[in-house]
Amino acid sequence: MKMHWLPYSTSVILALLTLAITLSTIEHYYQTAHNSTTTIALNSNDEPAVKEKTIYLTFDDGPSIHTPKLLEILDRYNVKATFFVVGNNGSYSIIKDAYSRGHSIGLHTYSHKYKQIYASKEAYLADLEAIQDVVFKATGHKSYIIRFPGGSSNSISTPIKKGIMTELANMVTAKGYQYFDWNVDSNDGLGKLTRKEIANNVIAGIKKHNSSIVLQHDIWLESVYAVEDIIKWGLANGYSFAPLTMNSFAAHHTISN
Ligand SMILES: [Zn+2]
Repeated sequence: MKMHWLPYSTSVILALLTLAITLSTIEHYYQTAHNSTTTIALNSNDEPAVKEKTIYLTFDDGPSIHTPKLLEILDRYNVKATFFVVGNNGSYSIIKDAYSRGHSIGLHTYSHKYKQIYASKEAYLADLEAIQDVVFKATGHKSYIIRFPGGSSNSISTPIKKGIMTELANMVTAKGYQYFDWNVDSNDGLGKLTRKEIANNVIAGIKKHNSSIVLQHDIWLESVYAVEDIIKWGLANGYSFAPLTMNSFAAHHTISN
């Protein structure tokens, strides 16, 4: 038994050491990203100074019929957020409205069809440029901030095209875009959780970080309502809220495809 126990224990220690090294590399990367000096302007917001305890609220897949309600809640607390918009729902006036209220408008995808956009670099770029054009027409400004559908760490793209996320991350960076993942997931994605459950998920996640990029979807009313609880908790606990810009912390995930 001892003969088996010893190598097992050694391999566990080695695995833990590897994990520790990986985590410290990620930490280093985040700090480097924080200090980035990229200067491409995105919108009318001044670049927010990087502060301790910052919450970046981000909303994917909108705008939707619930987005005006969300804009009203954000205005009530003077909180600025980031909308990673899609292009296939025609609600361009809401994008314009969100932008004019000082929120960042990021590019999610025009079609949100994984099989289409992750088929090749060319297909992804065509979709990205289509949503960039929508945002430009709505706001008069070109956005260079991106959120990949499924995040950069998605595995849904693996059977579609092996290695595509690695290729895309390199390509968009070389073209002057910045892509953003998240480090706090509200898990609102399936539209099944209540306002309270969503807020609790987000608050539990925020407590683990100084800078939090929160993933929500403004296509779900419960998630929109949860924002008020998250903001109240954040303000009461010394956090500030900021929209994402090119210089913000990016919370890049480890790419697996
Ligand atoms: Zn999405």
